[in-house]
Amino acid sequence: MIISNKTVSALEAGEYSDEVLSEALQLKDDAQKELFLVARERRHRFFPDDRAQSRSVIEISNICRQKCRYCSIGGKDQKLNYTLNSAQMEMLMDYLYEKGRRVILLQSGENPSEPFIQEVINAIGKIKEKHNDLRIILCMGDMTRDQYQRLYDAGASDFVLKFEASNEELFKYCKPNDDLSNRLRCIHDLNDIGYRVGSGNIVGLPKQTMQDLVSDLKLVHKLPLGMNSTTIFVPAENSDFAGEPAGDGNTTLNMMAVMRIMNPDRLMPTTSSLEKMIPDGQYLGLMAGANTVTIHDGTPEELQEHFPIYSTHRVRPQIDHFKDILKRAGMSADICD
Ligand code: SF4
Repeated sequence: MIISNKTVSALEAGEYSDEVLSEALQLKDDAQKELFLVARERRHRFFPDDRAQSRSVIEISNICRQKCRYCSIGGKDQKLNYTLNSAQMEMLMDYLYEKGRRVILLQSGENPSEPFIQEVINAIGKIKEKHNDLRIILCMGDMTRDQYQRLYDAGASDFVLKFEASNEELFKYCKPNDDLSNRLRCIHDLNDIGYRVGSGNIVGLPKQTMQDLVSDLKLVHKLPLGMNSTTIFVPAENSDFAGEPAGDGNTTLNMMAVMRIMNPDRLMPTTSSLEKMIPDGQYLGLMAGANTVTIHDGTPEELQEHFPIYSTHRVRPQIDHFKDILKRAGMSADICD
């Protein structure tokens, strides 16, 4: 492959200096096309069958002890607090399994209370007894090492815990009740236990600089991850950041492409927030090197509006959409129905 842009050539050769990373994040037009081409070539080298992992999400609870300033969950306008019990979780996982799904993502707000953790442990234990080939991914926030261990022992194998911002001050500004060092401790605990861990950042947060994004890329590269991700900042209604400008689409897509080039063997999602903020955003995410899609049909319909994690008007991509974008991107997926 002949690459004419010098920044893309440098990245391809493994040069990850601050200058190269910063320039790469700002590429446009033909240079951006070359960046995406290298990202897809890297993905193909490590995932030669060009298959995307499809995961089906169940939002198991909207109770959260955090109050992230970019999130609508837990705000004063939250009309309903809900938590599924273990029987409900099991029933929904069964339903998805029957549809042919083999990767399920259980997502909740951050609620490390013991009764809730125990409900999740019970549900995972029961479903794994019936369907041992089901892969369970958790996205439930900071907990103690012991809690992560017990969830792993029950049968969960993957955990998504995004650091969101590698700059400690920016992290605190966006997540005033949390602390970056604790989040990183959690990521290392998860990895030590044996989880495949996913982490990443948000592009376009208020007060974020280009150097912050470069540092995010370097942290993603350094952490012991099997999955990495980047999402675009959405000024969520009812959140503290509701009046802020949205993140930039091109920078987010470039971030994905650079992440793929630097970490070619990891899973990387094309997120529903991209679809909300950029026309054909999830397709473009695949073209920038993503290889994971999340299907949003596991949460009971009447509860969906009560999980407004980045917006009260979320995009909830369904199977037909993925079949279409995967086909256009020259990829396939393990989607059965
Ligand atoms: S982003 Fe997650 S941890 Fe933060 S308030 Fe929303 S649900 Fe809670």
